[in-house]
Amino acid sequence: MKLGDKKPQKIPMYVYYIIVGVIIVLLNLLVVPAVQERSIQKTDYSTFIKNVEEGNVSKATVEEDYIYYEVGSEESGNAILCKTVKMDDPDLVNRLLEADVTMDEVLPESPSIFMTLLFSYVVPIAIFILLGRWLSKKMMNSMGGGPGGMMSFGKSNAKVYVKSSTGIKFSDVAGEDEAKELLTEIVDYLHNPQKYTEIGASMPKGALLVGPPGTGKTLLAKAVAGEAEVPFFSISGSEFVEMFVGMGAAKVRDLFKQANEKAPCIVFIDEIDTIGKKRDGAGFTGGNDEREQTLNQLLTEMDGFDGSKGVVILAATNRPDSLDPALLRPGRFDRRIPVELPDLQGREEILRVHAKKIKIADSVRFDEIAKAAAGASGAELANIVNEAALRAVRDGRKFATQADFEESIEVVIAGYQKKNRVLSNKEKLIVSYHEIGHALVAAKQTESAPVHKITIIPRTSGALGYTMQVDEKEHFLMSKEELENKIATFTGGRAAEELIFHSITTGASNDIEQATKLARAMITRYGMSEDFDMVAMENVSNQYLGGDASLACSFETQTLLDKKVVELVKKQHEKALTILKENMPKLHELAKYLYEHETITGEEFMKILQEPVPVLEEA
Ligand code: ADP
Ligand code: MG
Ligand code: ZN
Repeated sequence: MKLGDKKPQKIPMYVYYIIVGVIIVLLNLLVVPAVQERSIQKTDYSTFIKNVEEGNVSKATVEEDYIYYEVGSEESGNAILCKTVKMDDPDLVNRLLEADVTMDEVLPESPSIFMTLLFSYVVPIAIFILLGRWLSKKMMNSMGGGPGGMMSFGKSNAKVYVKSSTGIKFSDVAGEDEAKELLTEIVDYLHNPQKYTEIGASMPKGALLVGPPGTGKTLLAKAVAGEAEVPFFSISGSEFVEMFVGMGAAKVRDLFKQANEKAPCIVFIDEIDTIGKKRDGAGFTGGNDEREQTLNQLLTEMDGFDGSKGVVILAATNRPDSLDPALLRPGRFDRRIPVELPDLQGREEILRVHAKKIKIADSVRFDEIAKAAAGASGAELANIVNEAALRAVRDGRKFATQADFEESIEVVIAGYQKKNRVLSNKEKLIVSYHEIGHALVAAKQTESAPVHKITIIPRTSGALGYTMQVDEKEHFLMSKEELENKIATFTGGRAAEELIFHSITTGASNDIEQATKLARAMITRYGMSEDFDMVAMENVSNQYLGGDASLACSFETQTLLDKKVVELVKKQHEKALTILKENMPKLHELAKYLYEHETITGEEFMKILQEPVPVLEEA
């Protein structure tokens, strides 16, 4: 299959069946009777009578509608078979007897049986077989790497893109500047290889895009396809997974064969972890033969071609740590391109890229939205924009407003607003104090992030209240104090409940989980406790998929570690209690406001907090 060429138009299989069927029917209708009738001469009745009277007829058969007879004798070899219509002639038998005509079976059977057999069975079957052979041959040829059919075992079904057929450009990918830079270099190399070879530089054979889900890895690869003016083979790792052992390997072989023929070109393997998982030594698990063979074939193929030919292999994964080390060694995927969650500026850019597709009000502030959507991935941001547009339609507006965006953030991040779930007044009051407790503790600790919005409208996700915290500026290094403040903020909700209601509720389970996680990480991974100094207590794998921590310390240390975590959280819990006690009037005032309005923005919150406490009333 040539790139850019139109594939030969495929005629569906059933058309061939119809053609064969029609041929058979025509043969039966036309040819077979024609053969049977071939040697029978039609005559009129008077000719027949004349022939009988003249003694030319030797044999005759009278049938219901026709009379068949032979003119001339069979012995002389010039007998002609004739046919005529039967007339209402009472003298017929007498006439025949008089003329000494043998009344006998005259229809010659042997030739017609032979012909019938030939034309109604042998010829159609022959046509059928020939057509079938020709068809399968044609299919084999045209299959190349094209979409598979039942005869495509062992063929890779990589999609081939040519320039701009995806329509996605680097400009469609917002943020991710480093990734774009690295990929641009690869595209440039494929366009002007001599620029690089003159200096003696050779491109890496493979580049691996790694990052959490939804950050635009697949999108980036499609953009490369859009920008590069070379063939682009795209296949997902799972497409190599086959039912039969050896098929996956055959597909890999076929893919690289095609790529070599089309060089310079790019091969993109999405979700490579499905075939590139670490091979484990244990033979007990079984059933891994197929995957292992596929991986081995991939490794072999990657070694097999030389980079100067201009075949670049891109792959994407969100589980780089589960990949077989052999895949990552130099000469294979030796360039790693991190595609991380977008930062504040990146989020704003992504929002702008997607907002181009919808109508928005002029007053929409993307920086605000980006700030509120901290931690959202590109895919989530795209979803937020779409939700905002949907909301505008639902409310019968022609464009999306700031409020639409803010609501859609909550929808995407916290689940749909639940209209039918009502809290009792007592519950509402508790939730109000709980959420204000978080916010107050956060605001009173100098370095903690101020709140953006607090709401006590229940969400489908199960959270009763919800405090949206926003970091004023992003930072990648968190100090020990900042982390401690965060823990204090997590405990703030429960602390407020304790102080006001002198009882505790189940509402703090998520806070507890988060506080514990953070406190643990501080001790086991960030080296932030004196007892363990800079010793790692945990190993973390799958960092892009939430992270699975596994302990790496002795049993005694574990006990001590648990004790330290409890101490750390307890200290912060006490700190939160102190802060709230010191700000009791504000706690009441803010909680009352939230209870009444159900929602409080960061600005309103800060305004109330900064108003002087009306001391006189209390006195
Ligand atoms: P993954 O990293 O899981 O392969 P995708 O590339 O499939 O993520 O991204 C999913 C969707 O999210 C894209 O189709 C796009 O709409 C959006 N998206 C993700 N990252 C970005 C980005 N950096 N710029 C613009 N859109 C993005
Ligand atoms: Mg993807
Ligand atoms: Zn809470």
